[in-house]
Amino acid sequence: MTQYVAVLGATGSIGDSTLALLAAHPERFSVYALSGYGRLDKLFSLCQRFVPKRVAVPDDQVDTFSQRLSQANLDIAVVGGQSGLVDIATDSQVDTVVAAIVGAAGLASTLAAAQAGKRILLANKESLVMAGSLMMQAVRQNGAVLLPLDSEHNAIFQCLPASIQQDNQQIHDEHHGVRHLWLTASGGPFLHTEYADMQQATLAQAVKHPNWSMGQKISIDSATMMNKGLELIEACHLFNLPEHRINVVIHPQSIIHSLVEYVDGSFLAQLGSPDMRTPIAHALSYPERIHSGVKSLSLYDLAGLEFLEPDLEKFLCLKLAREAMQSGSVATIALNASNEVAVQAFIEAQVKLTDIALINARVLEKIAGHPEVVESLEDIMAIDDVARRYASSEVRLCQQ
Ligand code: NAD
Ligand code: MG
Repeated sequence: MTQYVAVLGATGSIGDSTLALLAAHPERFSVYALSGYGRLDKLFSLCQRFVPKRVAVPDDQVDTFSQRLSQANLDIAVVGGQSGLVDIATDSQVDTVVAAIVGAAGLASTLAAAQAGKRILLANKESLVMAGSLMMQAVRQNGAVLLPLDSEHNAIFQCLPASIQQDNQQIHDEHHGVRHLWLTASGGPFLHTEYADMQQATLAQAVKHPNWSMGQKISIDSATMMNKGLELIEACHLFNLPEHRINVVIHPQSIIHSLVEYVDGSFLAQLGSPDMRTPIAHALSYPERIHSGVKSLSLYDLAGLEFLEPDLEKFLCLKLAREAMQSGSVATIALNASNEVAVQAFIEAQVKLTDIALINARVLEKIAGHPEVVESLEDIMAIDDVARRYASSEVRLCQQ
């Protein structure tokens, strides 16, 4: 039976890989809806190529984009803004929602997809960092299926027994014997750079990831290792474990994508070329397997694989993420919001790369006394808003 797919964040890096797979398997998948925020020329080309039924653009672009589509004789309904994304994510015709918007902007539509009981392919890790409990509760209550696209989480998912894959509550059952999860991290472009040199890093250096080709924000997050911090929080929610049961190991070759350690001493790992088409193909076809077009891993050519302990002083963001997870949802929401503001300030050359961690640390200190009421999307967005204001004032202080 054809799976009708909505790709939210279709113009990005995950969007590219997803659409390549959907195009390669037309007998299985139909592109029902797309969304894009910037690069609307690219979105227009995707509309010409895939002819979806619906497309979401920013609110102020709805009229212009509709006109452009009708001039090209394309009968595609255009919706706008966050409400348009939510509308698509909950459309009764949609089976699968690929949540590939970057940042907090992806939260409302991902949560709505969970509430509508969809099959969700989750790339937008920020939605679990901000709303992990709410998301997992919505998934359970509405019979949604949540499949991780993040390569590490997809690797762990593949290494867990089928019963845990289907119900993460079961991880606490001794019977399954999971001791730890091990998230691998490449260490990013500055793994072997002194802190003093990292302070001078340019944007071009920061986004040049050694192994993966990704969007700008996640590339910068990889350079500060905030990405691994966000992934640690993501893993806690996805796999229903406290942060102390999840370890991080630096593995610069990015061949082992993560591991599960069992009580009998077994470590199960998933390996592959660093190419997002593998986890996306896995999640699209789960529990079956499809061809992804990824080149086979050449085991004979693999030089020694390395494993190192992360330096938490140099990569303070990773330490902050652990502390935030211990502290609770207010802290994880604030950390995510602050990080988005600080990363944007680095992109705009207002702060140094190393200021990102310092800004995040100060925002976490400031938010510490905030009352812990996180029961709805509105509560989350209110904390997000306060944290963004704190972060903006910290950015101004860094500039003085
Ligand atoms: P990207 O920057 O390449 O693409 C982001 C997409 O989000 C684009 O389609 C953009 O138009 C859309 N978008 C941006 N701001 C928006 C807004 N305000 N409202 C609506 N849409 C908006 O990013 P990416 O690398 O594809 O990453 C997407 C998500 O997947 C991120 O959460 C990232 O952490 C996660 N992820 C990416 C990779 C990867 O290899 N690229 C791997 C693991 C996880
Ligand atoms: Mg990852």
